[in-house]
Amino acid sequence: MLEGLSESLTQTMKKLAGMSIIDKKTLKDVTKDIQRALIQSDVNVKVVFGLTKKIEKRALEEELPKGLSPKEHVMRIVYQELVNLIGEKPEELKINRKPYKIMMLGLQGSGKTTTTAKLVKHLKKKGHTSAIVCTDTWRPAAYEQLRQLTEPLDVPVFGDPENKDAIDLAKKGLEKCGSKYDVILVDTAGRHKEEKDLLDEMAELSQIVQPDEVILVIDGTIGQQARSQAETFKKTTDIGSIIVSKLDGSAKGGGALSAVAEIRAPIKFIGTGERVDDFEAFDPERFISRLLGMGDLDTLIEKAAEVTSEKSDKEMIDSIISGKFTLKDMENQLEMMNKMGPIQQIMKLIPGLGNQLPANASKVTEEKLGMYKILMNSMTTYELENPEVIKKSRINRISRGAGLTNDDVKDLLKYYNVTKKALKGMGKRNMSGPMGKLMR
Ligand code: GDP
Repeated sequence: MLEGLSESLTQTMKKLAGMSIIDKKTLKDVTKDIQRALIQSDVNVKVVFGLTKKIEKRALEEELPKGLSPKEHVMRIVYQELVNLIGEKPEELKINRKPYKIMMLGLQGSGKTTTTAKLVKHLKKKGHTSAIVCTDTWRPAAYEQLRQLTEPLDVPVFGDPENKDAIDLAKKGLEKCGSKYDVILVDTAGRHKEEKDLLDEMAELSQIVQPDEVILVIDGTIGQQARSQAETFKKTTDIGSIIVSKLDGSAKGGGALSAVAEIRAPIKFIGTGERVDDFEAFDPERFISRLLGMGDLDTLIEKAAEVTSEKSDKEMIDSIISGKFTLKDMENQLEMMNKMGPIQQIMKLIPGLGNQLPANASKVTEEKLGMYKILMNSMTTYELENPEVIKKSRINRISRGAGLTNDDVKDLLKYYNVTKKALKGMGKRNMSGPMGKLMR
């Protein structure tokens, strides 16, 4: 997510490494880098200059807090100011009445339909039932798209591609839902002949639906234009929260997030890919620590917790964190990562791993997953638990048993060693390392 920005900010942070006193030159160097990185991510230039000025002023004027080195002091300020740029505290979606009616707004192509399905899945994980009312009369395919996306979730979609009256669709849909479901999501059109017609329809629908919350979906790839888009919608309906989609691989995501934060509309979720699982609650602090290459242990554990119900999996997470990591753990871990989503994304959440992995390392991993499984199947439990004993003769036996080559076994062992090294001390780094101290 926001790879370019993350990479340049992580590199910038490294410049602070040798800083033993707060010297103006290094500071200037660092703020110049931050400016460059943020402007490239389409953050408003004026905002960027305001931010770096503040970082410089605070770094030079604030007293060095007890227990922090000058380097940590500056890192903390950069971290705090970047968090402020995108919104400080996380805002949760609170389902506090039944049915809780959510109206989904967004221009066509913003990812509104996909996001609606993502939100339904999120709600299901939280234990809420939901139903969707489709009122998009401009894109009849939206109804079918919603049905397909939500079919595995067993969520009803009420709509009628033949009906051209959005208000009628809303009324009928709401009637059918009654008070059976915890949440009713009303999906709306994203396009009209004229923008004014679209906004008028939203206002009228809002009168009928009486939503408890209006959520606007904004495409993260539009950068700072997100601000005017949000403002336009805000004029007609009371936007309660925003979801910024397509933050995966978007060069302008930083601009979109900061532009939305500027108008004080809380971003509650972000979309990070095309799959319904590529969705996460937005937490500015976590987001920035990930962006700065500090990893995000909490998100990783949360994601893991969603797919792990058995105790053995939880033990496995503990063993990863404590640094005891065997081939058996890796086998489970690969299995679990497979369930959690593209390994590339999961890796990003692992402190210290995200920015160190060669660009194609995790891709290779996904492709090789099958081969690794076959190899591990021909290993003994003893070997899986004590991989260091796997030397020449065992390698020969394993490769023969798996019908693969010795190089394949070596490749697996190499991958295991790299992963083990990267994971080693990850818990320590987060909890008690210098950055752990800064976050508290
Ligand atoms: P709508 O017209 O606003 O309903 O948009 P759709 O939900 O149909 O999405 C438009 C396109 O954006 C589709 O190809 C989606 O797969 C894609 N999309 C939606 N959300 C994301 C996201 O978070 N990341 C990426 N990469 N693509 C997304």
